[in-house]
This record gives sequence, structure tokens and C-alpha cells, in this order.
Amino acid sequence: MTNEISQAVGPDPHSCANPAEVRVTHLELDLTVDFENRKLKGSVTLQLSRAEGSTTLWLDSRLLTIHSITSEKDEELAYTLAETGQAWKGESLRIVLLSDTQVVKIEYETHPESPALQWLSPSQTDDHQHPFLFSQSQAILARSWIPLQDGPGYRFTYSAKIKVPKGMRALMSAPNKSGLSSTGEYSFRMPYPIPAYLLSIAVGVLDFRPLGPNTGVYAEPGVLSVAAYEFAALQSMLETAAKLYGPYRWDRYDLLVLPPSFPFGGMENPCITFVTPTILSGDRSLVSLVAHELAHSWSGNLVTNATWNDFWLNEGFTVYFERRIMEAIEGAEYAKMLAVLGWQDLQQTLKEFKGKPDATCLKLKLSDQDPDEGMNEIAYEKGYLLLCKIESVVGRAAMDKFLVQYFEKNAFKAIDTEGFLVQLKELLLTDDKLWKAVSPEAWIYKPGLPKSEKGPVSARFEAVQQVLDIQLKKGELPTPAITRGWSTHEWLHYLRGLPKPSPIDVLTKLDAMFHFSSSGNAEISSAWFLLGISSKYYPMMESLQSFLFRTGRRKFIVPLYKSLLNAGFEDEAQSWYAESRPNYHYVAQATLDPLVGLPE
Ligand SMILES: [Zn+2]
Repeated sequence: MTNEISQAVGPDPHSCANPAEVRVTHLELDLTVDFENRKLKGSVTLQLSRAEGSTTLWLDSRLLTIHSITSEKDEELAYTLAETGQAWKGESLRIVLLSDTQVVKIEYETHPESPALQWLSPSQTDDHQHPFLFSQSQAILARSWIPLQDGPGYRFTYSAKIKVPKGMRALMSAPNKSGLSSTGEYSFRMPYPIPAYLLSIAVGVLDFRPLGPNTGVYAEPGVLSVAAYEFAALQSMLETAAKLYGPYRWDRYDLLVLPPSFPFGGMENPCITFVTPTILSGDRSLVSLVAHELAHSWSGNLVTNATWNDFWLNEGFTVYFERRIMEAIEGAEYAKMLAVLGWQDLQQTLKEFKGKPDATCLKLKLSDQDPDEGMNEIAYEKGYLLLCKIESVVGRAAMDKFLVQYFEKNAFKAIDTEGFLVQLKELLLTDDKLWKAVSPEAWIYKPGLPKSEKGPVSARFEAVQQVLDIQLKKGELPTPAITRGWSTHEWLHYLRGLPKPSPIDVLTKLDAMFHFSSSGNAEISSAWFLLGISSKYYPMMESLQSFLFRTGRRKFIVPLYKSLLNAGFEDEAQSWYAESRPNYHYVAQATLDPLVGLPE
């Protein structure tokens, strides 16, 4: 299988690798997890495929300490670790190969501040008894825990031996076995080639609950029952997805619920999606996030953006697929609510990037910056709208046939935006009239949205809008009888629709009636806090402070800090950030440090 792995054609601007000369086809990890020193220690053995005349293997590395590098015959290999001049890019590890070297073994250890790894102290976990470790490799952080070729266009298979303290469990982005090891040693084998950003590890005291023949959920023991309830429909969601766009190719699909510091909603690590506990709403109303991560098993993990400049191919397709899954499960009206909320987010992003039109093109130009800081909502929602546009021109049946072909034809390969356009022309928009009706190049290479784009409409939101209109015109507040049956999405539409600022007496009455300040639903809390901050509604400030302290999900905390700063709460923002920052992952800190200011 390894010989058939295809690679990205062009060079990757965010990697030092030279895959045209030498590429890594398989890696074998042997690591010990050292919680005391916050380090992974051990070795990685790389199997190589070399072009004729190749002499040097170039790898990506960041903050790693290299102890030795040897060949399969145990010969010492000369190497240099050269600065790239950009902290986010790390160092370039250049290994001089002997003429017959096919395998390279690197003994190394990670830095306690490795940006990919978050080491949680016991107090940051649910049980407060044991530490926890998890990784986040996307976009280019894998190099800070393994020296490798770190670009989304470079794929390899891997195997791993991981040693953890007894009683703890290790999980990786590979088909996991649910048993607990008595020795603390775990082994993994990922038989399908994946890019570096999908390598992941988590270690903690974790239990497992099966949810179907090849699905299940891992979580800390105190969270497991709630999680199993929330994700009860996982197996049928998986089957629904496979019915839409072809077989699920990764054997198992499990979820791992992480502690609240996880900076994202979810991360689509193959075989085991990592999710934030902020989607445990108690009423299964936020499972579209799981549909999103599941959809990545096709768009992203199976067919991968060639470089981070093509990020919209991963995310736009995934949002489209996510909403098709939710439509199949919950009906068209439900999916339309998700689309309208996405449209609102997109309008907000377009407003924020008014002075930076390049950032609103689908094809990005991120060569000189940390891709994680350059990727935004545009890839998701504008990408989604382009696929909706195509569907509206060709019809749903033709669209679905194309997507099945697209996933089949490009499985386990990388594709760039230009390659997508070629296939779109060959397989779907076959004549000039269809091509012109969509005009995909305008969507991809021009900023903003085409003027004709009016956005989706939701009948369920129109009903909410009527409630809002009555409130705004006549001052009549909604009552629990009127809002009975509202989903989280309807509440979000309502809260977003209230004027900022709103009168304090209105917020006081709403809070007394609907208990927003003490809501256990993170989506509703965060919409309420945004409204409260702009209205200077002080009674919710304590809840906000504790929300910011215990939640690390960037989607929530970044707008909240921004809003505090804009509304004149600089002191609160700074002191709360200083207090909460140790609970945040590196990627959240990297976004917030320049915004709020590094605590003294
Ligand atoms: Zn995604």
C-alpha cells in the first residue's frame, strides 16, 4: 500500500520537507509519556522512499531535542538542525543519508512547552485526581512532537508503542482497542496513509462505552454517562453518512470527550474524533458538531487539501456534508437553521475582514504566516455556499453523484484548488453554460460573496423573528409558553437578534424567566454573555468570569474577550485572562496574547 501513496505535486510553503527527493512512507513511534517532566521521550523510525541520487532527508521539527540519528545498520548519520527564522515554522532537520539508507531512527524528546501538547494538571480534569495529556497537530504542530514531513499533502502509515503510567489509557488516531492495559503499554497500527496533522495522542484516566458495532465514546469516568446519552445516535449517524457519499473507510469511529481546555469544537483525528465537552448540552441539540467531524472522515481525512492555502476544500465540503447528514436525520428545516446561523457568522467575518479582502477569498495566500492564524470562517461558510450554488445549478442528484465520484477518485490523496476545478469541469460542470452559471473562479479567487448571493432562509427562524419583532415594537417579552419547543438554534437566533446594547430591565426580566446566566448550554451562554457585555449587565459578570476560566474553546472565548475590550472592560479582560490563561491550550493563547496582552 505504501508504494501507491500519492503526494502533493507542488512544494508546501509551511514545510521544510523535500518529498520529491526523499519521502517518508511509514513511521514507527516508541514513546514514553513522562507527566512529571511534561515530555514525550523515545524514538521514531522512518521508512523512506528515495529518488535516484537523493542525499538528504529534510524534516520539520520544532523545539525537539535530538539525541541521535542512525540508519538501519546502526550507522550514525550526520545531521543539522537549522533555524527557519520563523518561530511557527520551527527548525529544519537535515539528515545526510548514506547511499543505501532506507530507514532512519531518531532518538529524541519533546520540549515541555511543545505547542502541540497540552499537559493538564489533575485540577484541570474532571476527577481532579490524575493528569491528562492531549495533542492538537493541526495545522502544523505535529512537528513539535515528532520530527517528520509536516504538510497536509504528505501521507504515511504509522505504528506506535506508547508507555503511560499504570491505570491510565493511551488513545491514538488509529483503530483503538477498548481494553485497559495492565502494564501501561499500548500499541497502535494505522494501516491507512494519513498526513501529519491527523496524528494524535491522548492519555488520561478514561473509560469506554460502546454505542454500536464500530462506534463508541471515551471520556473521564465522571463524564461518560452524560456523553453516552448525548451521542446515542452515533452509529446511525455513521450509517447515514456512508449512505450519502460512500463507504466509511477507517474501521472504527469513536469519540473522545476531552477536558474543557480543548481549544476547538472538535478535531477530526481519524478513527477517534476529539470533542469539546461544551457540546454536552443534555438535550442532544449540539450534535451537528459530531456530524461535522464525522464528515471529515471523507472530506479532509480521505481527500485532503494539498496545502493550507486550499483549506476551504477540507472545510467547505465538510460543512456541506455535515448539513446533509443533519438534514437526513432531523429534516430540511433543521438543516436550514444551521445554514442561517452559518450565514450570520459569515457576515460577521466579512465585516471583520473588510480591510483585508485577500482573507475572504477561498484560495488563501498564507505562505508567510502561521496558517493557523490565517484560516477563518470563510473556508467553512463561503465554501459551503459555493457547493450549494453548484447544487442549485446541477440539481441534487447530479451533485451527489459527483461527490461520491470525487471521494472515490481522490481517496487517500491530496488535491489542490486547481485540481478540484479540473475535476469539476470533467465530471460535473461539463459545458460552458453550466460553468458560467456557477462561475467557480469568482467564488474562489475573488474576495467576499457574489452580489447575487442572498443567503439561506429558515421558516423556524421566521417564527422566532416574529417573536423578536413583537418584543422590539411593542415591548412584549416572550414567555416560556411561546418558546416551548425551541431548540438551541432558535434560542441563538433570538439572542443574536436582540439589540446590542439592550435595556437592563429587559435583560433582568429575560434572565429571571429563562435563566440564561446559569445556562449549562455553552452556545446559549456565550450568546447571552455577548449581549450582556455590550449592555453592561453586571449580574452575569460572575458567571462570565467562571465560564472563561473553565472553557478553552477558542470559538467562545475569543469573541468574549474582544467584546469585553470593546465595551471598556479592559481591567476585567486582563485580570480574567491572567487567571484563565494556564487553562488554555497553546493555540488559544497564541490568538489571545496579542489581543488581550500577555499577563505580567
Ligand atoms: Zn472542520
